Amino acid sequence: MASRGRGKARDGDSIDGRRRVGFARDEIAIVYDFDGTLSPQPMQEYTVLPELGIEPAAFWSAVDREVAASECEGMLVYMRHLVEEAARRGVRLGRADLRALGRRVRYFPGVPGWFARTDAWVRERGRGRVRIGHYVVSAGLREILDGVSIRPAFRRVYASEYHFDRRGVATFPKVLITDTTKTQYLFRINKGRLDLRQSINTHMPEGERPIPFSNIVYIGDGLTDVPSMAVTRQAGGHALAVWNRDRPGAREGCEALLAASRVDFIAPADYRAGSTLERRVRLLLDAVIADIRYRRELHACRLAHRM
Ligand SMILES: [Mg+2]
Repeated sequence: MASRGRGKARDGDSIDGRRRVGFARDEIAIVYDFDGTLSPQPMQEYTVLPELGIEPAAFWSAVDREVAASECEGMLVYMRHLVEEAARRGVRLGRADLRALGRRVRYFPGVPGWFARTDAWVRERGRGRVRIGHYVVSAGLREILDGVSIRPAFRRVYASEYHFDRRGVATFPKVLITDTTKTQYLFRINKGRLDLRQSINTHMPEGERPIPFSNIVYIGDGLTDVPSMAVTRQAGGHALAVWNRDRPGAREGCEALLAASRVDFIAPADYRAGSTLERRVRLLLDAVIADIRYRRELHACRLAHRM
């Protein structure tokens, strides 16, 4: 009997609800970093920074200076700086405001059509018996991501979140996601405990985890993704690094990840049909689908022989 979290899933997307008797580990998860992976610039640079009239380079260097001077967590610093700058300039940072700004986020070529094309590929190659879900785990802001045009493509978006005060204005971090805490969300997907109120620390045997790591493909763009890539790969999953063709040194960064065996493949961040990235992701998906078919047959064989 599968153990279940005490918390009830808020929006019904917990995989627990769909668990079937027997072989059900037929779902693939593609987990994306956001900034630099799906979108060329950090999301703040399309949204809050221009809204506040702040030049991005000056903003990030102020954050970096404070991090260097006081040994603090950079993600907390940038979130606080945004709140302070908004207050200073009299700009309202409300949930709806941030969400509306999300419409300004731009993507690498091919991203808007990528999800439907990938889903169709999995449907065809898995002969309709393999499912796929897309997830985002980002150190950016959930409120902005909730407003991006590709939001409907994702089963779940995990990112840092603000607490909003009684006036509905962002005042303090409510959820903080950093390079290393990103890995928590891989285990949430792995264990089907997508709701933050569900504990992921209780033991769940490998065979009961709805999405085994071998069904997970992680896509990121650099050093900040190393903990997630390492966790995914060490647990039998797959990772891929992409680089921005327009950013000097980005390709070399990905090559270093490949040389250190942090990733299965690297490719330019070009999601258009026929791109190197598409070809390599499809190869990984084919390998995962073959593995699912193998495990399904093994399960059937054991059942037939009453094992
Ligand atoms: Mg990134």
